[in-house]
Formats: sequence, structure tokens, C-alpha cells
Amino acid sequence: MKQLTTKNLIAFLSLAVLCNLVLCSLAPAQETKPDTVLLNGKFFTGVASQPYVQAVAIRGERIMATGDTKTIQALAGPNTVAIDLHGSTAIPGINDAHHHFSLGPAEVDVDFQTLDPSWEQVKNGIVAAIAKNPPNSLIAVTIGFQVFGDTSVDRDALDKIAPNNPVTLGTFTGHAMILNSAALRFYNVSETQPDPLGGRLERDAKGRLTGTIREYALMNMSRAAADRIPDSEAIVQLRQQLEDEAKYGVTSIQELSVAMPPARAVSLLKAVPTQIRVRIVRMPGTTPAGRDVAEGKRMPAHPASLITVSGSKWLADGVGVEGTLTPRGAWKLPAKPPFDSLMADLPLQFPEAEYRTMLQETIDNNDQLLLHISGNRSAQTVLDAIDATGGKSIWDGRRLCFEHGDGIFPDQFARIKQDGIIVVQNPIHLAPIVPPGVVAFEKAQPLKSLLEAGIPLAFGSDAPVNPYLDIMFATNPGNRPSEAITREQAVIAYTRTSAYAEFAEKEKGTLEPGKFADIAVLSQDIFTVPAPDLPKTLSVLTMVGGKVVYKAPDPK
Ligand SMILES: [Zn+2]
Repeated sequence: MKQLTTKNLIAFLSLAVLCNLVLCSLAPAQETKPDTVLLNGKFFTGVASQPYVQAVAIRGERIMATGDTKTIQALAGPNTVAIDLHGSTAIPGINDAHHHFSLGPAEVDVDFQTLDPSWEQVKNGIVAAIAKNPPNSLIAVTIGFQVFGDTSVDRDALDKIAPNNPVTLGTFTGHAMILNSAALRFYNVSETQPDPLGGRLERDAKGRLTGTIREYALMNMSRAAADRIPDSEAIVQLRQQLEDEAKYGVTSIQELSVAMPPARAVSLLKAVPTQIRVRIVRMPGTTPAGRDVAEGKRMPAHPASLITVSGSKWLADGVGVEGTLTPRGAWKLPAKPPFDSLMADLPLQFPEAEYRTMLQETIDNNDQLLLHISGNRSAQTVLDAIDATGGKSIWDGRRLCFEHGDGIFPDQFARIKQDGIIVVQNPIHLAPIVPPGVVAFEKAQPLKSLLEAGIPLAFGSDAPVNPYLDIMFATNPGNRPSEAITREQAVIAYTRTSAYAEFAEKEKGTLEPGKFADIAVLSQDIFTVPAPDLPKTLSVLTMVGGKVVYKAPDPK
């Protein structure tokens, strides 16, 4: 394969300029020929007027033409590389609009078949992990409603079964954690440290830490642990994650940079170096005095050809299953769903006036604002803050993003639409977590009805990446079957609208002339395979800017 590197591209561009100046009429034939043609495929373009084409021609880092195989083949010159897709399905490269790198200390993960194990299972899992791992290994367990809702599970209960090993019980949402005494020491959490704004280190009546840490207090703790990981090791962790993305045909990620300050993220990504496009979105922590608004503010917008820095993300609320900032145990799941009440009543992360401050600061900095909106109250508060800071005339066009948007109810659609808000949902949230026969989320967690209301819907992973698992849930949402969208709509949410969410829709997100040649050729036809097979999809050929960044090994 002929590959065009950045250096080659610069050389090519200077040559092109020279040709224009001196030799324009004598340009050699190959100058106007594609570098690569992909033939005999089933390309989903994402363009409404021509949703499917057979072939794509690429010159430099951009798409030169699309059409049927015969037409595209006729464009090829003697030096054009032709790749026969033999009927394979291809899509615009996936753009993960809500991505988090994971960067943390080495740990022993205790997994169960369920996201909601019982305390009995958790206890046994911890004891077994301690027995078969080196002394003092960090043991990390993922828990759900049952264990988090059981207030007898705390630091002391964990100390009894794990007196020496640091043990963390992290909720699957990532918004709360229960730590034993050794883990509090491991993470440098001191008995006297004050709560940051929008975070909580829970204490008992005597003021002693119970081990439960929430929201911004947990974010700050995890960030501090990631900061201690040497760059050499961080590069290995990030490189692995980026390689995994390319195997799924992901060509762009929008990293909500919770694990690293933007400056560190950029320097690590340059060192990796990343082969796919990464947008770094500032996601600073808080201190007892307030939000850290200075973090990343002076970063250049384009620190490298594949890296951009833009936007700021804050948590407007937490998540339903943990009641966010209320004391643990004070806010329990209703004995019987519907869960709509969860989506409606979530406490806000910050005092109400802080949202107006946040919005005004976005306008003053000409920034893009991304807000974690799980519940309905936060959505309502932000919509009101929009009105208080100028309303539609100021906000439409600024592309404020509601990240998740599970708690958006139909009565808010009109305002969301008029203020030009984008909803970035994570389809994994629509996985069937409610037992059959129980009615849940009767009005919340919209997908299809957002599109019908004309509201841009983008997708992101918010979790380990598998876009095709997400497409399965978006097209078969267990929680809300009536909100199912089509597979084409799901791919558009993960490509074209994700690009729109980062103001990059003129550059990427569809397969059409002039756009970056960011393309994923897939291992199976995601538009026709049975739904349960979707998660098995992988890329066989991933291109970023016309350059192959992943190619599956040839089947033997
Ligand atoms: Zn997230």
C-alpha cells in the first residue's frame, strides 16, 4: 500500500503549488489521479441524496470521488493503488463523541456476570482475588444497585475481609466508590480533607470517613492517581487503547479529558503518537473554592495535525442509581419502577446560580459547553440559564451538548431544539437492565423522538469501546423499545452528527468528495446481520486521512 505521511503530504502540497504557478497546463497525469481507489464495496455514505455507493477514490488525505465501481475505476492512473473490497460493507470512520481514556494504577479487576452483583458474590470475589494475587495488590470490584444500596457495606466491612489489600468498590456508572482503609491510604485520601464543590467524602456522625466518595471528590482522586503514573507507562496504556479503537474502525475520538489535564493529554498523544484524530475536551475538577476554570484555557486549538483542543465539560448532575450527592442510603430506588422519578428528581451538582455563571463564561470565552445531564432537573435548570443569558439568539449555533440526556422528557424538546442543543447519548445506557414485565423509563431516554423533533443526536461510548454493541442497543433499546432508531440513523449519529458536535461536519462524518478519507471497511454487513451479531463486528481496514492505520491480518 502506498501511504501518504504528513511529510509526504507537505512535499506533495509544495509540488502542487509549484505546478500551479509554473506548469499548470503541463501537470503530469498522475497529479489529477487518485492515490487509492476502493472498489466493489457497499459504502454507506451518510449522505441523504446518495446513501450507498460502490467505490471511493482518494487523493492525498481526502475523498476525491464516490460512485459505482466502473466510474471510479476509470479515474485510476498507472500509480493508483486499487483495493477490491469484494462486496464488504464500509462506513465513514466512527467518531466517538463521548470518550474517556482510562489511565490508572495496575489493579486486579474482579468481574461478575452481572453489573449488579450481591454482597455475598462481592465478598467471595474479593477473598478469592486476595488469595491468588501478590500481597497488597489493588483489588477493584464493579458494583451496582444492590451493594451500593446496602449501607452496611462500608470501609469497616471491607477492612474485615481485606485488612491489608487496598480494595475499591466502584459503581458501574463511575460516579461513586467505596474504599477500605488501605485504599484510602493508597489514593492519599486524608481524614481531614474538605469536600470539593460538587463532590463528597462521606463521613459518619463523628466525622470519620466512611469510605464512600462521590462525584468531583472521586474525579479529583482518580486524576491525582493518574498524575502519578509515569509518562512512559501512560504512553503504553494510551497506545493500547488507540490501537483498539482503530480495530473497531474508530477514526475520531472526542476525549472528555477527566484522566489527564489537556496539556498532559496532548503531550502523551504526540508521544504515542496517535494515528487517529483526537479532540481533547477540557474536563477540569473542582476545589472547595469552586470549579478549576483555568485548566487548559490557554491551550492551542490545533497542537498537532491529528489533535485538536476545544470545548469544556462539567457535570451538571450525577446519576440516578446513586442519588448523586445525597447521603448514601437517604435516596433509595423506589421499591417498584417506573424509574422515571429517578430521571426527574436528580440533585444538581452545583448551586443553581453556578449554571448561569458557567454559561456566561462560555459566551465570554467563545467556548463550546458540554454538560453531563442525566436527569431532568439539570436539563430544566440549564434551559432556564440559557434564557437568563440571552436565550435562543445567543445560544443557537453554539452547539451546547447535553451529554447522556437520559432524563430529557418530551415537554423539553421544543426548547432544546430552539436553543440548538445537541444530545450526545450513550446507547449502552439503553441496555435492558430492568427485569422483563416491569415498565420503566416511560417518558425518558429518548432517541427516535429526538430525531423526530429535529434535535441533533450524536453517539459516544462513555465506556469500553464497541460502537457496534452501541448500534445494537440504539436499534433495540431494551429500556425503551418505542425509541428504536434504524441502523443507518445509528451510524449517522456515530459519524455525521458526532462531527457536527465538534464543529467538524465540513471535514468529516460522511463519505463525499472533499471530506477526509476516514473510512472503516467492516468484517460484516452491519445493516443486515442479525442484531445479536452486531457486537462481533470489527474493522478489516481503517483509514484516517487516506492512510491505513489498521489492517486485519489476512485470514489463513
Ligand atoms: Zn462520561
